[in-house]
Amino acid sequence: MDYRENTDELAFRQRVRAWVTDNAPRNWRAETKTEEQMGALLRAWHRKLFEGGLVGLSWPTEFGGQGLTPTYEAILNDELGAADTPRVSFHAYLGRAIFTYGTQAQKQHFLPAMLRGDMQWCQGFSEPGAGSDLAGLRTYAELRGDKYVVNGQKMWTSGAQHADWCVMLVRTNRDVPKHKGISCLLTPTNVPGITIRPIKISDGSPETCEMFFDDVEIPVENRIGDEGAGWRIAMTVLSYERGPADIGFIATLKSTLRRLEGLAEETGRANDPEIRKAIARAYVVGEALRLNVMEQLSQRVAGKPPGPDGSVARLLLTQAEQTVRRLELELTGADALTGRDESDAFGAYLRSRTISIFGGTSEIQKNILANQVLGLPKA
Ligand SMILES: Cc1cc2nc3c(=O)[nH]c(=O)nc-3n(C[C@H](O)[C@H](O)[C@H](O)COP(=O)(O)OP(=O)(O)OC[C@H]3O[C@@H](n4cnc5c(N)ncnc54)[C@H](O)[C@@H]3O)c2cc1C
Repeated sequence: MDYRENTDELAFRQRVRAWVTDNAPRNWRAETKTEEQMGALLRAWHRKLFEGGLVGLSWPTEFGGQGLTPTYEAILNDELGAADTPRVSFHAYLGRAIFTYGTQAQKQHFLPAMLRGDMQWCQGFSEPGAGSDLAGLRTYAELRGDKYVVNGQKMWTSGAQHADWCVMLVRTNRDVPKHKGISCLLTPTNVPGITIRPIKISDGSPETCEMFFDDVEIPVENRIGDEGAGWRIAMTVLSYERGPADIGFIATLKSTLRRLEGLAEETGRANDPEIRKAIARAYVVGEALRLNVMEQLSQRVAGKPPGPDGSVARLLLTQAEQTVRRLELELTGADALTGRDESDAFGAYLRSRTISIFGGTSEIQKNILANQVLGLPKA
């Protein structure tokens, strides 16, 4: 396997780097104090990336994508991660549901607007009591004529307060085994009967939401795939959520580690054996993650869709992020709690705890690897 970039890829990297230098928002963390400001920033950033020709790089050209290999997405993520830009919207993996399973009419209606950033999306899968056991979801959609009438609750729907549309899983049949009675619907978030309540996570930011559905009417033409195909669609979306987008994370990890090495020098702890061990551990996990992601990327370029082995990258990413944020907290010391620390080490530490939960907990990732990759028997 040759992981080096070819001439075109190198030229693309240079172009992206120059574009990011000219266009990425600066000081955006400090300047976005409210949720409204954050929503506006994410939407504007998405549109700017689109205008710069940097959204949908590996999507088919017929829907506004550029038909490039996933390597280009990885290079983009790497450069955005290194420049610590705001997050890119969730279209990259949620759009997979539509362009893999949607009708031609659905693709034409949704995908170009999704790429332009005119429609922001959220993912309504989890419910109270149906997170790890996602197939146990209970939000019910009853077919009445040409509409579904939906009642129930979604939980932890990230970005719902900024989203225009939601890709959601609903139960359409209670009389078949639980995986087979699930369908996938698309709904605007501003229709009658939907209530969205932000949830503050551990660092105090309302990053995710509860969504309540009370007799919400969703036209049948907004169903993706057949009735009962929701589980397969969910597995496709989740496999892309866990995939080589992680490459952007590696760039952030590397620059954070460089900053922490500097901080260790400044605070006179660069020779502390425990600190040295923690830095070395973070480098090793980061490098293992990089190589694993590169391997997955090369398989993706060769046309193999992501599979259960993506859980390896997810576990390594979790370990690397939590190791480095624990180290950052240790080096920052009491300043992290007194408010004198401008880098928000405490907030970053708290946010790192959520990585072992969203997109499937670490325990569930290990179950996937045990059952689906190693072929071990289920407990
Ligand atoms: C910040 C954040 C953002 C999120 N964003 C979204 C989003 O946008 N859309 C969305 O749909 N969901 C989202 N989620 C939900 C996330 O996917 C679920 O929280 C996660 O799958 C865990 O489900 P749960 O919270 O119901 O916990 P539970 O499933 O109740 O798990 C509780 C504990 O039991 C363990 N456990 C459960 N079952 C097993 C098992 N079989 N074997 C071993 N251990 C097990 C778990 O690992 C965990 O430690 C988000 C969550 C967070 C925290």
